[in-house]
Amino acid sequence: MRVSEILSESKKAFPSIEIVPPLRGITKTELLESIRPFMEFNPKYINVTSHRDEFSYSENPDGSFTRHLIRNRISETTVCAAIMERYDIEVIPHIICAGTTKEEIESKLDNLAFLGINNIVALRGDSMSGEKRFTPTPGGYSYASELVAGIRSYQGSNSYRREHGLETDDRYFCIGVGGYPEKHFEAPNLDSDIENLKKKIDAGADYVITQMFFDNQVYYDFVEKCRTAGITVPIIPGLKPLSTVKQLTSLPEAFSLDIPQELTKAMMDAGTDKNAAYATGTEWCIMQCRDLIAHGVPAVHFYTMGKSDNIVKILNECF
Ligand code: FAD
Repeated sequence: MRVSEILSESKKAFPSIEIVPPLRGITKTELLESIRPFMEFNPKYINVTSHRDEFSYSENPDGSFTRHLIRNRISETTVCAAIMERYDIEVIPHIICAGTTKEEIESKLDNLAFLGINNIVALRGDSMSGEKRFTPTPGGYSYASELVAGIRSYQGSNSYRREHGLETDDRYFCIGVGGYPEKHFEAPNLDSDIENLKKKIDAGADYVITQMFFDNQVYYDFVEKCRTAGITVPIIPGLKPLSTVKQLTSLPEAFSLDIPQELTKAMMDAGTDKNAAYATGTEWCIMQCRDLIAHGVPAVHFYTMGKSDNIVKILNECF
């Protein structure tokens, strides 16, 4: 079932879970066991993030360099197939432009369509580690809006099916995109970032999932600005509970977001007591989640980032 259908049929807010593909060396059984705690809540789908290939270089005796592919995570498509097979649940692979050509993306879409996966989250991705700015891959997409348009015009399996007189579906993929309540770090201001978000919707995206935020008012203001800008699709809030004091600096640095003073102070008060910091972050997220549900959000998206205990507690308290 497509997320757009799930959203329009759902009568109350539901949790949406995002996982990161496991590192190479983790077995399928270990991965499936790690997400079992979420299955108790009958999630309607599981998102699986995508990670660009990274490269290392070694210098040859003649001064030239050899490029080596570092592949340290299992692909999102493989993880999705394993989850579908074991849990009979919808899966949503993320697809990124970074490090990929349009042809490679088309081939990925062929694989997804073959598996019966008809939901995607389309993203640009980030620059390679060590690279200052995002550089599009030659033959690839520069922005997520171009990727959305590419997915919408995807004719791979359709053209084959047409040729063979089989049923086709031009809006096969339901597409989610990312939105940034505190603006994307490269955007000059929130208004122009929202204009760029609208380009993704105009290109055919069906809904938005936001970057994590720790102050719900930021999300409510963002939704209002999006509506004023003519964005009418569902905007699903994204949450992540803080789990360590270190995240007070690492998350703003990585995601260009603010952590409210009240939460900062509560985390600092926990100090070196790791359990107290973990509990404080979890309680704050429970408070955020309850408030979002009370405000009538369609779903709440959780960035699990390899952790399940805190998310399970939040799901128990809120859904
Ligand atoms: P875009 O929408 O392309 O925007 C990127 C920047 O370009 C913004 O500043 C925007 O304002 C600007 N821009 C857009 N269009 C134009 C235009 N036409 N002209 C000029 N400027 C423009 N990353 C991963 O690597 N893997 C994942 O699985 C992943 N999952 C994510 C899930 C969610 C819900 C979110 C919110 C983010 C996720 N990310 C993921 C991170 C994401 O890839 C980065 O935030 C990335 O820097 C931007 O991606 P985007 O799709 O929002 O890019």
